[in-house]
Amino acid sequence: MKPVLTALALVVLGVTIGCNGGTGDATGVDRQLAQEIARIRAVDNHAHPVRPTAEGETPDLEFDALPVDNLEAQSDPIRQRGKSPIVADAHTQLFGASDKATAMRARGADYATWMLDRMGIETMLSNRVAMGTGLPSSRFLWVPFADALMYPLDNKAMILNSDQQAFFPLEEQLLKRYYAESGVVAKPATLGEYLDKVVRATLARHKKGGALAEKFEMAYLRTLDVGNPSRADAEKVYATGAGDYKALQDYIFRFIAGECGRLRLAVHIHVAHGGGGYFHVAWANPLLLEPLLNDPSLRKTTFVMIHGGWPYTREITPLLTKPNAYVDFSEQTAFNAPHDVAEVLRAWLAYVPEKVMFATDAYPASPELGWEESGLIAANTGREALGRALTGMMRDQEITRERAVELANMVLRDNARKLYGLQ
Ligand SMILES: [Zn+2]
Repeated sequence: MKPVLTALALVVLGVTIGCNGGTGDATGVDRQLAQEIARIRAVDNHAHPVRPTAEGETPDLEFDALPVDNLEAQSDPIRQRGKSPIVADAHTQLFGASDKATAMRARGADYATWMLDRMGIETMLSNRVAMGTGLPSSRFLWVPFADALMYPLDNKAMILNSDQQAFFPLEEQLLKRYYAESGVVAKPATLGEYLDKVVRATLARHKKGGALAEKFEMAYLRTLDVGNPSRADAEKVYATGAGDYKALQDYIFRFIAGECGRLRLAVHIHVAHGGGGYFHVAWANPLLLEPLLNDPSLRKTTFVMIHGGWPYTREITPLLTKPNAYVDFSEQTAFNAPHDVAEVLRAWLAYVPEKVMFATDAYPASPELGWEESGLIAANTGREALGRALTGMMRDQEITRERAVELANMVLRDNARKLYGLQ
């Protein structure tokens, strides 16, 4: 099957090149630029790689603090459906006629790094509860989760649907783990003690464990609208368990953001539509972050708007002028078509290009769509979208070819390397 398909693909490609005079590939991307883009070894700003495990070993479940692969059924976007041809194509590209289990057995501990090579990714920022064997720190850098720290009280009143019914117990479990890792046996009596002995201790431990950033999945649980309550108000809610719980959460979030600035950890926030049929899209509007981005006391904290705000991508553009605001286009590369992502990218690249970062959000969504397939689909889509955006800018004489290549390197690799101080 495979050689036939390859031959057919070459014929199709040949015909296409013949038709458009050799200046672009089948997608209209400038051919020379496409080759440059394909060569760049990327830094993936956000993904959920899964540790390879042998048969009989407990499967890795630490790829997300709030896994979305087991929620009440929703109408999945077409590109996310297991039976989608794009998923089958990605599987064939990665494994040929073979299967994942065989490849995993053959590659052993090198399986995940081999997979990165297939995606053209040099370094993957791995948003996971913990790292572990099979994800070596030479290629996989850690981004742990900080949400659990925001919910130290009884969360029952925040559970409005089956998605949140799945999520809050997981946050409570993770907070227990953070207590234990911090050597704290029970909820401290005062907010001051909690911030010091649990929150600060957890962030310091993450930093020591190699973390580059702290990730928040806040929009899955509540709005991104973070107020600025007084310490006294927050202390009262913490101590009594009564009053405005959101104010306490807001206070803790700001404390974490301030600490992250001091520790040189970036703050990653899910800013976009998300998984689950009850996801409240309006809670994830990037403009809700404006008070944080405009707060002089948080200017030393770097905020990265993970997933680039989709569908509010135009709202992101002006926010990029804030000196501490960055964006990646993960998830869009998984859910959306290349031409759609290209339009988003073009607006950002024409505005503040040094803040825009490539990312895949590689994620084990289903048995057919593993982190491997979703990572490859997103990497290919991201490269094509970038090629389309830059080709358009070149053809409209907004940028030179040299600048297009420079921008491609910035988006795929250099912006992230500079932000996180990577070698
Ligand atoms: Zn993610």
